[in-house]
Amino acid sequence: MMPGTAFINIALVLGLMGIAAFLDGNYVFIPACILYYCFLSSFIVQMVKNRMRQLRAEQMSERLLEELTLKNDLLRVANDKLAEKAFEDPLTGLANRRKFDATFDEALASAREHQTPISLMMIDVDHFKLFNDTYGHQAGDRCLQVLSKALNDVISPSGLLARYGGEEFVAILPDHDKSNSFRVAERARQAVELMQINGIEGSAPSKTVSIGLVSCMVIPGVSRELILAAADAALYDAKQQGRNRVCLDHNLGSERDFWSIAKP
Ligand code: GH3
Ligand code: MG
Ligand code: MG
Repeated sequence: MMPGTAFINIALVLGLMGIAAFLDGNYVFIPACILYYCFLSSFIVQMVKNRMRQLRAEQMSERLLEELTLKNDLLRVANDKLAEKAFEDPLTGLANRRKFDATFDEALASAREHQTPISLMMIDVDHFKLFNDTYGHQAGDRCLQVLSKALNDVISPSGLLARYGGEEFVAILPDHDKSNSFRVAERARQAVELMQINGIEGSAPSKTVSIGLVSCMVIPGVSRELILAAADAALYDAKQQGRNRVCLDHNLGSERDFWSIAKP
């Protein structure tokens, strides 16, 4: 029952009882009715007040709950972004060494399990010290940004490109054999050769990279260290042979070494 209806009902009942008592000559009953009416009225008013307070508290707690949910969502997004940043190289936006290590381990485990080939590229910018010395460190930074984007545009559809450190990059190409990975490496090399470094006054219009490439099956005895060392050695060959080229490792990936590693 609504509080207003309750008031009217009580007033009607007590009013009629008061009139009946008055007509009967019972005058004491009238003030008793009035007092009782006042008591019931204040009781109902108090109940209404309490209910209003309860409703306000419920609304407030709902609002606080909504705010808390919203803040939790924002916190989760911020945490996700922070986690992403922990695996990102701040200069180039590429994956960093930590991300590379984790991804390489996963890729090796998967290649071992499914008996699929895996390829690794070690990429180094040619004569970068000279570029820095000539155009300054800031221009060097910009050059690394442009260059890493050109490399990533070619490599990212096939695998993961990471900044290994300084002006060195590393790319993992899962499920890529020698010929597949060589094609990707050659396209990456050409993309850098053809790119334009705009906005660096007087700078050479393009830079070049040398790439050491290793492609192998992950058989017993083939470890991440061995693959990295092989890619490094192939990169060294590329530098020795005059830079701006892709050199394929012929030891780890060769038939002969497969068996000498598998059956020492
Ligand atoms: P090479 O063709 O034999 O690789 O010669 P290089 O000059 O590229 O090799 P070197 O190892 O002598 O020099 C690498 C240079 O890369 C030196 C260093 O100042 C520069 N470098 C490394 N990291 C950064 C970076 O984050 N920003 C800039 N601007 N330069 C960097
Ligand atoms: Mg280097
Ligand atoms: Mg270099």
